[in-house]
Amino acid sequence: MRHVAVIGSGPAGYYSAEALQKLYGDEVRIDMIDRMPVPYGLIRFGVAPDHQSIKAVSRRYEKVALSDNVRFVGNVLVGRDVSIPELVDLYDAVILATGAPDDRMLDIPGGDLPGVVGSAAFVGWYNGHPEFAGLDPPLDVAVAAVIGNGNVALDVARILAKTPAEFAGSDIVGHAFSALGGSAIRAIHLLGRRGPHQIAMTPKELGELGHLEDAVPLVDPADFPPLLDDSLLEPGQRKSVTHLRDFANLAPGKAKSIVFDFFARPVAIEGEGKVERLIVERTRLDDKGGAAGTGETYQIDCGLVVSCIGYKTPPIEGVAYEEDRGRFANSGGVIGGGLYCVGWARRGPTGTIGTNRPDGYEVADRIAADLGASGGRKVGGPGLDGLLESRGADVVTFRDWQRIEAAEAARAREGSPREKFVAIEEMLGARGRE
Ligand code: NAP
Repeated sequence: MRHVAVIGSGPAGYYSAEALQKLYGDEVRIDMIDRMPVPYGLIRFGVAPDHQSIKAVSRRYEKVALSDNVRFVGNVLVGRDVSIPELVDLYDAVILATGAPDDRMLDIPGGDLPGVVGSAAFVGWYNGHPEFAGLDPPLDVAVAAVIGNGNVALDVARILAKTPAEFAGSDIVGHAFSALGGSAIRAIHLLGRRGPHQIAMTPKELGELGHLEDAVPLVDPADFPPLLDDSLLEPGQRKSVTHLRDFANLAPGKAKSIVFDFFARPVAIEGEGKVERLIVERTRLDDKGGAAGTGETYQIDCGLVVSCIGYKTPPIEGVAYEEDRGRFANSGGVIGGGLYCVGWARRGPTGTIGTNRPDGYEVADRIAADLGASGGRKVGGPGLDGLLESRGADVVTFRDWQRIEAAEAARAREGSPREKFVAIEEMLGARGRE
């Protein structure tokens, strides 16, 4: 028997569990430890609430979770309830699948003014993450600036632009649904420090902006390189750029505008006690494709700035960490000393949900190579249970989660799959007891 602990129950964690099951069948026991009383990490707290088809991947993880040899050990914080050295003593392998939930900071003057929020906080707010439920972003303003040209910036701009009716079928939390319904925002500036050819947005997601009920995407035709240059792009990127070229033919005419500010690098945020304006330097591409400042600046009068410039994995004491890349130091997912990492904790915050799958399969192979044919020697789950019990931890099981989920479904708005609990106490309370 091999005993494996997976820390984090998001996509990277579940693909690792799936891969270990495929490799070892009944000869493995997997404990998925999560600091939240609810599983699925990024699927619940990161994927946009109006992208239910992406969130549906959790049904695949549920199949893994319901197997006899996989346990969900929720509401357990590594570092508080159990330490990494203790887990390494108890399990034959410990996989860090902790994702990258922390914002990369926008390091410019005024970046700490009220009204500047990071995407982890903003996305967590509309997705019901307990840490960000109280964010209360200023929506009583006419203009918002969203910094970054990746898919997260797109999610944020789209959520700010949608009408209440467009959230039908989503699982946006009640507090965000009401606040966005009363929003005064009429212009959303989407700032990229480079040009249309350098966006990190994917075509399907970008195309959605062209079909919003009450908002129109606007692009300045002068920002494009010659049309012929599009043929040099890889097909996905070419499709995205084609969407942008289509947007450049649109004119204002709906209640809200999503304005693409290309070649625009934020240099300062100003205001009396809160955000009032964003100072932006115009850029051009340098010969390596990077953004070079031109010294010319302009300002965007705005009351909300959402910075969507990427994430980092929180370091764990005693585990080697690469500060510049915001991830654990590892070689092909191996950290060493019985520790492994997968997903964003391994690669940094890039790639879609599916990108985590090969990570999971690779780490399973690495573990198998390290353990060899003899199998494991550690005690695994019973040892963890003893430790957690002695520390009075209130562990949430997968069965408990199913009760929480049923309670969320029971109080859902019409047409919505659930109304999420946002406080940990509410989640724990919803477990009920048979
Ligand atoms: P991302 O794709 O890496 O995009 C980050 C953006 O921030 C880039 O445009 C980058 O510009 C810009 N940026 C970085 N530092 C900056 C700075 N100091 N000032 C101004 N701009 C800066 O990251 P993400 O949007 O957080 O997404 C993370 C991953 O999740 C991506 O792989 C994404 O595709 C995925 N995701 C997918 C979906 C979906 O499929 N629906 C939804 C959300 C997220 P440069 O290119 O110039 O560095």
